[in-house]
Formats: sequence, C-alpha cells, structure tokens
Amino acid sequence: MKIVSGRRLEQWRKQARQAAIAADLSPDEVDWILQDLSEIDRLDLRLGTFADRDRIALHVDLEELDRLWQKRIRDRVPLQYLTGVAPWRNFELSVSPDVLVPRPETEELVDVAIAATRRTKLDCDRGIWADLGTGSGAIALGLSVAFPEATICAVDISKAALAVARRNAEKLNCDRVQFYCGSWFEPLEQYREKLCAIVSNPPYIPSGEVPKLQPEVSRHEPHLALDGGEDGLNCIRQLVRMAPQYLQPGGIWLVEMMAGQAGNVVELLEQQGSYRDIQIIKDMGNMERFALAYSPDGV
Ligand code: GLN
Repeated sequence: MKIVSGRRLEQWRKQARQAAIAADLSPDEVDWILQDLSEIDRLDLRLGTFADRDRIALHVDLEELDRLWQKRIRDRVPLQYLTGVAPWRNFELSVSPDVLVPRPETEELVDVAIAATRRTKLDCDRGIWADLGTGSGAIALGLSVAFPEATICAVDISKAALAVARRNAEKLNCDRVQFYCGSWFEPLEQYREKLCAIVSNPPYIPSGEVPKLQPEVSRHEPHLALDGGEDGLNCIRQLVRMAPQYLQPGGIWLVEMMAGQAGNVVELLEQQGSYRDIQIIKDMGNMERFALAYSPDGV
C-alpha cells in the first residue's frame, strides 16, 4: 500500500477528469479506477470527502496510477485490463488481455439460461452444462452460482484464457466448474448425448468489421474471441451442427450473437432439422441478442 494525501489525490483526480473529457471518455472512469486501486469508495468520491483525509492508501503509487491512466487516454486500453478486474453480475472477475472483458449483455445470457430450464423436463439443476469459449469463465461461473448442484464444463481453445478462468473459479470457490482446453466440443467426447445445455458467447463479428470496432476492442481485445469469419457465423454454424450429438433429448442450445444475425441463425437452426422451439430473445438494449432452441424430446 502507498500513502498519499487526500488533497494530492483530489488534484490528480481533477486533472485526470479533464484529460478524460478532452479525450472523449467519460470522466466517471477516473472514479472507477480510483475505486479499484484505492480504499476510497463511491460515496467518498461523490461527496468529495476523501480530499479532507491526511492519508489515503493506494494499491500503486501516484506515478503508477498516472501511468495507467495515460495508457487509458493515449492507447485506449480498456480500464478493466489496467486494473485487472471487471465487475460482472454479482462478482468481480479477474481479466487480462487474453480474455474479452465480459459484457453487460452477456450477464443476461445467464438469466435467459435460467428461464430456459423451465421449458424442458430435464433436471438442469443437477445436469451437466457446457460453456463453449468460456474466456474469463464468466458464463460458466454465473451458471455455477445459479445452479450450485450442476456440473459446468468450461471449454476454451486458449490456454491463457483458461488460466484466467481457473483463477476466477478459485476466487469464487466454484469447484463444480471443470476446465477443458480444445476447440468447441472436441474435449467433451465423454459427454456425447449427456449434456442438458450448451451455452456460448462465441466470436461472431464478421472479420472485416473487427478492425472498425472501437479502438479499445479492436486494438486490445483478443481477436480470437471476436472474429467469427467472413459473415461472423462460422462458430455459430459449428455449434448448430455439433450440439445435437452432445445434447440429451430436451437439451438447451443458447448462443449470443450480434444485431442483424438473428434471421440467419434461425435459418441455420431450422435447416439443421434437430431443434424445436427456436426463439430469438432481445437484450436490454432491445437488440436481438440471443438464440435459444431445444433438442427434441423424443416424445
Ligand atoms: N459483444 C462483443 C463486442 O461487441 C463481441 C463478443 C463476441 O464476439 N462474442 O465487442
């Protein structure tokens, strides 16, 4: 811990907020970095009361804090990579540039999954789930908290991403999440016809769009987790094709996608011929964000 006076920190905050506005970033980000890297809380920041204290403990010294902030402003590094943490659902996940920063839309994917279990006779509370392309482990951990007796298989092709996901599972004491390194269903051979649900936030951005995303995303987030091939649907196509071999009858297929893809995803699911109750679900921004389907019950 490094100690700094409230006055000194207040000066830094003021300057940093001005720099944020000049760089077209929200000045609130200054407060987020301060909350992550110091003992000051939100109320203290909002009321300005921290400025009256003689001693404030920071996790890094003021020079380092400023260096991190410059990286935010100049290099557009996402704040979550600078602090190493991202709030998501009710936890604080560790993140690094090896994983996507988990998004608010994806928080909803877990709620959609919970609601989806009400429309199958399968006992999903105690079933085996797969989160394919788990990244930071966000979805797998969200499911594990929602279904504490279920087993969650978290798969990623990136070893570096899995290391982050494992760290998060340890931090949250989620010992029912199992980690597998490999491409989609490849490491789940033993679970053929045994899964009650597969969920995924796969890469779905068309390759040509990736460089046009905001610089935080295109310059700093892993393209492996974003780039879904020419039309963005390469991975979703694989998930549609492979899942029926792994799902139990009545199993859930739930995938995140981007605006404009819903029609094509429904068509892929319909053409595959082994899904029922295909639905598109909107996110809180009113975007068609999730595709949900079930494998037939066999009744
Ligand atoms: N939602 C992310 C973005 O817009 C992309 C995530 C993904 O490709 N799965 O940057």
